[in-house]
Amino acid sequence: MNNLTRPRLLIIAPHQSYRIAPYISAAEQLGVDITVASAGEHSIISVINKGLHIDFSDQQQALADILSASVKTPFQAVLGTDDMSVALAASVARALGLAHNPPESASIARRKDHARDCLQAAGVAVPQYQRIELNESIPAQLESLNYPCVLKPLAMSGSRGVIRVDDIEAAQLAINRIMTILREVEVADEADAILAESFIEGREVAYEGLLSEGKLTTLALFDKPDPLNGPYFEETYYISPSRLPELLQQQIKQTVSDACQAYGIQQGPVHAECRVDKDNEVWVLEVAARTIGGECARLVELVTGQALEKIVLAQLLDITLPRIEFQGGAGVLMIPIPEAGILRRIEGISAARAVPGVKELLISVRDGHELVPLPEGSSYLGFIYAVADSAAQAESALREAHGLLKIVTAPIFKMTPVLS
Ligand code: ADP
Repeated sequence: MNNLTRPRLLIIAPHQSYRIAPYISAAEQLGVDITVASAGEHSIISVINKGLHIDFSDQQQALADILSASVKTPFQAVLGTDDMSVALAASVARALGLAHNPPESASIARRKDHARDCLQAAGVAVPQYQRIELNESIPAQLESLNYPCVLKPLAMSGSRGVIRVDDIEAAQLAINRIMTILREVEVADEADAILAESFIEGREVAYEGLLSEGKLTTLALFDKPDPLNGPYFEETYYISPSRLPELLQQQIKQTVSDACQAYGIQQGPVHAECRVDKDNEVWVLEVAARTIGGECARLVELVTGQALEKIVLAQLLDITLPRIEFQGGAGVLMIPIPEAGILRRIEGISAARAVPGVKELLISVRDGHELVPLPEGSSYLGFIYAVADSAAQAESALREAHGLLKIVTAPIFKMTPVLS
């Protein structure tokens, strides 16, 4: 293909999104030109630097800027990479007459209270839920909750601010803690309330799929083998293929498909988190019209033989990719932060890397940095990948490697001002 005939794709991504780089690389592999629209003003990555600078806080202006750029450089497809940009991407695609999901569906998925309203109205099983209005008397609202329940911000990710509480006293403390986290929220009405949901006890899975004209295809289903009973919910182990019975796996897919239909999502990537209770009922925790975050995307590549971002772009551009069947088991562990403190060092890395099955161990936090665990924190120490003959073996390799790591921290001394 020469440059005149190469399709051009517009990617809309928040500043510094880790998803930009894999999409750029996937576009290169597929022979597609790419324009990145982002708020990044001083990027040293040339494709971003040369890209389109937009202001996410003014979506109308951002839409207008993109549409005027498209007059000079027409786009054959548009993609939003993250929760923040999928709605804008859908609006751009609609204005350009390209395939798209309804922009409203992306906004619904981002707002946990709206998402619950939408799913419940469509008859999809969601936990019982209630908004706690922060501008009204909170104790009275906490009285009416059924415990145990889970309290969470309306629009955050990575389990930030998500806290399980077993009684009213714990709920009040958790509300105070979440309100502190909400101080950084810029969208006014997202900090006005906290969502309370009944706690669904059970096994959790992450589902990754691709929709084409409303038809869902599974890319990967991950078991999360650690019991996730709170009070905080760290993402730790993701293991594929799922060891749940085939029938249950089909039920999960059907539930995710029903949720997509409820939101009006018709095409492109779908990421979902579900719980399966003791009666094998499937409950939707989250469904979003985007790919799974960070390192898990690389697991999808292992399982499907193709980079997840390449699969997404190929679908947008009508390119058929071969699916390579994966026979073994694979897993990732997001190394949890054991306690708050200053990271001094991590011991045992070489031994952990030498565990049979471990393919990669990456530490992403440097010595001397402050570690902030959930519910306030938003990062992990790093990641371990394992590939083995079976899912069970991949999981044990990860557990063994994790057991060999010793995370040494020093306490943080905060100066308290002396009052005279
Ligand atoms: P985020 O979007 O920040 O990841 P989620 O609503 O997906 O927040 O919740 C994060 C995690 O908290 C889930 O993966 C799950 O382990 C746990 N969780 C959230 N809501 C519930 C619930 N109603 N019942 C049981 N666990 C829950």
